Amino acid sequence: MEKRDGGIFITDEGIREMNSLVRAHRVVETLLVRAGIDPDKACELAKMFDYALPEEVVDRLYEYLGKPSKCPHGKDIPSPSS
Ligand SMILES: [Zn+2]
Repeated sequence: MEKRDGGIFITDEGIREMNSLVRAHRVVETLLVRAGIDPDKACELAKMFDYALPEEVVDRLYEYLGKPSKCPHGKDIPSPSS
């Protein structure tokens, strides 16, 4: 199945990749904020390496953090893509 969005094709795989990137970003952000880093700074820092983290590592961090449902900005952390 393919979804059209504003004339751009987004495949299911593309959606899954975006989902896992958003998830990685928000999980890393949450970790940094819990470590005492300012949320805006955490966001900037997370962008530097969120994309580089393997999904298993993101899952580990997510569990370590107690499976947070929201990021420090109050946005939903997507559930793991299966
Ligand atoms: Zn952010």
